[in-house]
Formats: sequence, C-alpha cells, structure tokens
Amino acid sequence: MSFSFKNDSEKSEQDRYLKLQEGLVRVRFLDEEPLEKWTHWINNKPLNCPGPKNGCPACVVNRKAKAEDPKSQAVFKLQKTKIINVAVYGDRGVTPEVKILAVASSLGDALQDIVQEYGDVRDYDVKIKKSKSGPKIWDVRYGATKASDDFWKTEFDVLRENRFDLAPEIVPAKPADIAAAMRGTSETEDNVSSVSVSEETLTKLREGIKKHEQGVALGLVDFGIDEKTLTEKEALDYIKELC
Ligand SMILES: [Zn+2]
Repeated sequence: MSFSFKNDSEKSEQDRYLKLQEGLVRVRFLDEEPLEKWTHWINNKPLNCPGPKNGCPACVVNRKAKAEDPKSQAVFKLQKTKIINVAVYGDRGVTPEVKILAVASSLGDALQDIVQEYGDVRDYDVKIKKSKSGPKIWDVRYGATKASDDFWKTEFDVLRENRFDLAPEIVPAKPADIAAAMRGTSETEDNVSSVSVSEETLTKLREGIKKHEQGVALGLVDFGIDEKTLTEKEALDYIKELC
C-alpha cells in the first residue's frame, strides 16, 4: 500500500534542493547514480549551459576573453555539479524529507571514497559535514562519512516514490534566456544579438567563404554579413549557397 504522492517539480529551487548548513547532516541516497549538470550562475540565477556549440552566449564571452588573454578568469563561471535524490533525516523516528543534493567536486570525492569502500550508496546512511576553511564566504569544505548505524531500515520504498524527477533539472537554458540574464534583465527579447547563430554554424560559414574565394582572404564582413544579427537559418542558407 502506498498513499504517497510524487514530489512536485514546480516546487521552488529552495524547496527542492538541500541547502547544506555548517555542521553535520545525515542522509540516505535514494538514486544509484547522479545526473551531471553544468550551470552558469549569472546574477544569482542558475542557468544550465547549453554548450558553446549550441550558442551559449556566456561561453562565447568566456572564449573571447580567453582568446584575448589566456590567463584571464572565466567571465561567466561554469560549475559542474552532480545531482541526486536524498532522504534528509531530522530527529530519529521522524520521517525524512526528500531533497535534491547538488554535489560539487570536493563532496563528490569524499562520496566516491565511501562507495569504493562500502558499495552501493543506497544501502547505508551517510553523514555530510560542511565546515569553514577560511574567513571568506566561499571558504567551505565538505566531507562525508558512512554512518556507523542506520536510522531507518526498511521504509525506503515510500521515500523512493517521493523522489524528484531529475531530468528537468538538467535541461539546458535557452541561449536567449542566458543572454537576458547577462544583460541583467529577466525578460527574453526575441532579437538577441550575437547569439542567434551557433558557433558551429558560424565556423562552417567562415570556412565556406574561405573556400569560395580561393586565395583571397575574405571574411563574413566582406559579404555584408553581420555576426551580431545573423540568425541560424540565414547562416545555413548562406552555407547552402556557398557549397
Ligand atoms: Zn555556457
């Protein structure tokens, strides 16, 4: 018998994700494998990166900055996390709450060690520890250890039914939405400059132009093509004409 309901993906980011506080938290992992997620944090908003080949404007800016100065830091940092459903324990005897845990690299390493030693991470309780390693807000360290006892033994089927669907969490953001966040607005404009065409198509077009005008160093600009307003469709039409 089950009278549980599936967790609602419409819940806010805060309600879905486990926000780790300083100190210890005891969890039980509910998924065997995490999903990988690449996120730009722009104006405090997490936006999943669609990749530079799919026209991610943040990555385009990063690449340009890198080309100009190889030592420069990424303008729009890209964070890799792994997400996984966990049951978060409160007091002993209280039904744990299902949350998504976002695992960044240091915590991931600690968990990997546990899995290697004790096997399937769903089979035992894990204690996660967050501690300060310096005065700055980002000076934090994560550790994880297998708990010596388990709070719950058998009731995990019910909790598993309450897992969040992780697939929507890793859907890439639209390039236009990322561009809007970069401009500091939340509205999406239809006519977003420089991001309507993917880097991959642009490269093809550049190569097509080079091939077309053998021996003459021509660029897009010589054909009256403006990268900033070029759309994917226009670019593909040009490529067709050239080849
Ligand atoms: Zn990106």
